[in-house]
Amino acid sequence: MEVKRFFSEIITRAGSIVRLDAVQSRHILKVLRIKSGEEVELFDGKGNAARASVMNVPGNIVNVRVMDIETGKFKGVLEIDIALGVLKEKAMNVAIQKLSELGVKRFIPIMCDFSVPVLNNPEAAQKKRARWGRISLESTKQCGRANSMEILPPVKFKEFLKMDSGKKFFGSMDVPESFKRDIFKDNNEKVICAVGPEGGFSEKEDEELKVNHFTPVSLGLYRLRAETAAITAAAILSSLLRK
Ligand code: SAM
Repeated sequence: MEVKRFFSEIITRAGSIVRLDAVQSRHILKVLRIKSGEEVELFDGKGNAARASVMNVPGNIVNVRVMDIETGKFKGVLEIDIALGVLKEKAMNVAIQKLSELGVKRFIPIMCDFSVPVLNNPEAAQKKRARWGRISLESTKQCGRANSMEILPPVKFKEFLKMDSGKKFFGSMDVPESFKRDIFKDNNEKVICAVGPEGGFSEKEDEELKVNHFTPVSLGLYRLRAETAAITAAAILSSLLRK
């Protein structure tokens, strides 16, 4: 039977007792109805995991006892970053969930000329980012990856261009070529692919991407929704760079 995974910010040593937060506890008690004594897996989203057993549960908060720390369990981390023009909520949520499943390391929301909604209010941007973080964490739990996909704060397009990155690409309908395996020296190569929002990159942004050494790549024959394009880029890159 598949052992269920639960998030804990801190995982220390075998024998220690970990108090789960209200969300994880609720999931154990009310959704999965896991009983005391049953085995679960803990993960901290930073690459650590442990086997643990659920302890007696008097209230609504669950304690678990760490049985042993699991080392060397996880596959290597892919150095793939995906930047995506900020999209409407539903599309953005889908993109984050699927990109996490595909092993993307960092997700960079970009505020582009044609991005809807506009995230100029820092408080609103922070709230969105917290929500995206929860989606990424849920996905980490479900798909079994060790490190959660890091979600950067939304950046303005100009700032995005200045960010430190490896080999740089962007999804473009203007070229026939996709990514080629032989442009990557090895599987540890750091790669970023940017994808425009629903309205695409503006002409100016398109130009600036090229000036800043982003190579345009095709992601297929047809015009994809922005979230599909981001997911496609991650799927192609993860199959090319799989460890
Ligand atoms: N009206 C926009 C246009 O024609 O550019 C469509 C934008 S599309 C919905 C959103 C983004 O997805 C694009 O900016 C591009 O980065 C990416 N995209 C969509 N289909 C693509 C394809 N077949 N190849 C490469 N990139 C694609």
